[in-house]
Amino acid sequence: MSTTSFTKKSLGTDSIEPGLTPPPASDHPTPFIKRKLKLGGAKSKKREIPEGLWQKCPKCETMIFDKELDENLKVCAKCEYHFSIGARERIHSLVETCTFEEMDAQMISVDTLQFTGASAYKDKLAANWKKTSLKDAVITGVGRIGEHRVALGVMDFSFLGGSMGAVVGEKLARLIEAGTEKGLPVIIISTSGGARMYEGMFSLMQMAKTCAALAYLAKARLPYISILTNPDYAGVMASYASVGDLILAEPGAMIGFAGPRVIKDTTQAELPPGFQTAEFLLDHGLIDAIVPRKEMKERLIEYLAFMMAGRKNRVVTAAA
Ligand SMILES: [Zn+2]
Repeated sequence: MSTTSFTKKSLGTDSIEPGLTPPPASDHPTPFIKRKLKLGGAKSKKREIPEGLWQKCPKCETMIFDKELDENLKVCAKCEYHFSIGARERIHSLVETCTFEEMDAQMISVDTLQFTGASAYKDKLAANWKKTSLKDAVITGVGRIGEHRVALGVMDFSFLGGSMGAVVGEKLARLIEAGTEKGLPVIIISTSGGARMYEGMFSLMQMAKTCAALAYLAKARLPYISILTNPDYAGVMASYASVGDLILAEPGAMIGFAGPRVIKDTTQAELPPGFQTAEFLLDHGLIDAIVPRKEMKERLIEYLAFMMAGRKNRVVTAAA
């Protein structure tokens, strides 16, 4: 199954956020400099600047100071390339200070299938807990964006390639249910290589579960905004990410079900230029708007004002 083959590749990445390599066939097999500090043998003049403080933009190849990149929400100031950004950083960029109440913060995955292979699932989990300081690939909670209280879920690619296991699905389903109960709009910002192969069928079940929860949200006539960020593939795109009332994407995000290499090999056809980019999908009607990261908060406030018009009193009541 194409999902599985893609996911495998994604899970193999050891890149630490923000060292995200877009998943499809890339012209830049190693777009980022190695981030390990070399303690010895740094004799040449070139090595006077320690590695790990700079990153090379994969699009315009400019060297960017890490601090500068952080201050610019991980967007290249020269060409606007959007680097991967961690879930916590993203929440910080959108939600009003001190208004975010995280839900299910301690929920962790269990190795139900006792999966072993090239590496055991429990070892992978332990390594990712340590590497990312995250419990799983999504953070959920209720917070305020402008004057709107929202139920917000944000995925993080650095945790096992943003793969969707039972914890990601359960946390999102509970978030959507909380939104439905409290009368809040739901926003999910996704980035994922797809279903989590280590959880087999349990991960695939999350597709149905999240979509069922969203159907109840729709019944309550509450809006769901899906924001697609690079990369966004497979089981996640085939479920909650693609069923938003409003679907936004970040510029240049790669979005699809199977990766372009798999599609090309299967169909034996040349793919059109820009295939699977956010811009291509905007032209073809899959997404509603492309919103640069730095404008996202402002635009969300506008969209929420429009989508929640006439329901404001109810939201304030729910917030009280
Ligand atoms: Zn650039």
